[in-house]
Amino acid sequence: MLVYCTDYHCSNSVTLMADQWSDDLRLSDIGPRFVCTACGKRGADVRLNFNWGIRGPIGGMGYRVLSDA
Ligand SMILES: [Zn+2]
Repeated sequence: MLVYCTDYHCSNSVTLMADQWSDDLRLSDIGPRFVCTACGKRGADVRLNFNWGIRGPIGGMGYRVLSDA
């Protein structure tokens, strides 16, 4: 799945394996759990990566997941 920073000035994005999420967890529930490691903004736009190659992951960037969200 693709995780995008919701701050368009930042535009950080990362590709993650969706396997770590349970099937009953909706994307709208996952997004708020992310914090952008590039700009620190909380929340992200999460999408399933149906279209590989449109926009790949950016090296050296990523997201950490809030454990208490
Ligand atoms: Zn960001």
